[in-house]
Amino acid sequence: MAQKIVIIGNGPAGMSAAGAARLSDRTAEVIVIDTKEYDTFHPCAMPFVIGGYLPSVDTIIEKLAYERSKIQLHKQSFVEHVDTNKKELQFKDDENKLQTITYDKLILCTGSKVFVPPIPGKDLENVFSLKFAEDAEAIKKAISTSLARKIVIIGGSAIGIEVSSELSHLGKEVTIVEMEPQLMPFKISKSLAGTIKTKLEELGIIIHAGMMVKEIIGEEKVKKVCIGSEGAEQVIEADVVVLATGVRPNIDLAEKMGVKLSKLRAIEVNEKMETSIRAVYAAGDCVSVNDIVTKKTSLALLAGPAVRQGRVAGINAAGQEATYPGSVNSFIVSSRFFFVGIAGITSEQADELGVETVSSSITAPIIPHYMPDSKEITIRMIAQLDDGKILGAEVIGEEKVEANVNYVAMALQTGLTVYDLMNIDFCYAPAVSETIYPIVKVADAIIRKISRKKQRAKK
Ligand SMILES: Cc1cc2nc3c(=O)[nH]c(=O)nc-3n(C[C@H](O)[C@H](O)[C@H](O)COP(=O)(O)OP(=O)(O)OC[C@H]3O[C@@H](n4cnc5c(N)ncnc54)[C@H](O)[C@@H]3O)c2cc1C
Repeated sequence: MAQKIVIIGNGPAGMSAAGAARLSDRTAEVIVIDTKEYDTFHPCAMPFVIGGYLPSVDTIIEKLAYERSKIQLHKQSFVEHVDTNKKELQFKDDENKLQTITYDKLILCTGSKVFVPPIPGKDLENVFSLKFAEDAEAIKKAISTSLARKIVIIGGSAIGIEVSSELSHLGKEVTIVEMEPQLMPFKISKSLAGTIKTKLEELGIIIHAGMMVKEIIGEEKVKKVCIGSEGAEQVIEADVVVLATGVRPNIDLAEKMGVKLSKLRAIEVNEKMETSIRAVYAAGDCVSVNDIVTKKTSLALLAGPAVRQGRVAGINAAGQEATYPGSVNSFIVSSRFFFVGIAGITSEQADELGVETVSSSITAPIIPHYMPDSKEITIRMIAQLDDGKILGAEVIGEEKVEANVNYVAMALQTGLTVYDLMNIDFCYAPAVSETIYPIVKVADAIIRKISRKKQRAKK
């Protein structure tokens, strides 16, 4: 008899799991259940809808070819209860009727939930968070009136940065308030955070780092935001507030099912994306992952890992074999004007781990200086002092940031050293590259530093 694979959640992880399950077992019944009223949307493109780079939210909402693939999708449906002994679950369907279905394999792809700190005034009109397409549409509508001039973004991480640079492009007065002393705290080095701050300030964005939001003030609608550090409070005018205060793994259902959670309050999975309960898999923002560089448990909370994990969960649930080794924490933040990317760890994180490292930073042209439109890129790389093993890099520039982050991601996953990078057969033509790539130049600088340090130690 054909097996029944049920997937809860149709975000990037759920879609990937459904596709992989279908391809791995052509006869299986594949059922997906999700809360959204549309098939799917592209969350990572929401800042571009808000800023008008994409014309409307309809651009990022899509219909899936599930019927052709014989995948059943229950939209506007919410799974309330799973009985893992009976292998059955109950969900409220789009007509609010309770349906019960059985499964042979279950994949939890319940994603993440927006974290809204308990700030007084957070429920006022024109205060938004950003998770679903409807949120992007609501923000777009609120900012489209000429009365919405002053926008306060609470949270200075990736989403806060992307949304603020889009809004500043629209000519809005944008302020970012970040409670930690730097932008993208715990993600990037202090020095790169300083560079991003300068670049955003050049766009006219005001940044208050190290400032807590005490209150969002208004009657019906938001009017002001009160922020403060110890002993000093400040009130900023605000017509619209966007809460870019992060997300947390959505473990509501997993917790009720008794699935084992990691200490980061996410679903614990093994390399096959199996949970602690037999025949139950999980993937995406709701799981914790192995950090390949630090060997610690971490949260990826990104679409790329979600898709890779979903594929592995789908293949294994269907009875084939695949493994997910973990993440090297590579990501990129895009603004209209520059890109920032990182893979691996920063010097500060290496210090915390007690690893002795050497780092170097270079700014070099991507294509030869004599070519038209030659642009520079800045790469800061760190490697272990003893053997030159690459531990991470931060990249900032207007072009090829993703390519360089990807080189580093591959180096980290394959355990390459700075010495290995010197001999990689990178291709060359003046229209696309330098003979010596910036990434090789920075590796070379690290090699020289390591050699000097080792020579000094010998004396
Ligand atoms: C503005 C923004 C920009 C982003 N930019 C990037 C980027 O540039 N790059 C990147 O890699 N990542 C980015 N991300 C993060 C990325 O969107 C997430 O990591 C990704 O969506 C996670 O996919 P997921 O399938 O695990 O979860 P989700 O996308 O959260 O999907 C989970 C789905 O499960 C449904 N669900 C949950 N519980 C139930 C239930 N009980 N019953 C039925 N359905 C349920 C939810 O309603 C949801 O539809 C961005 C996120 C945002 C908000």
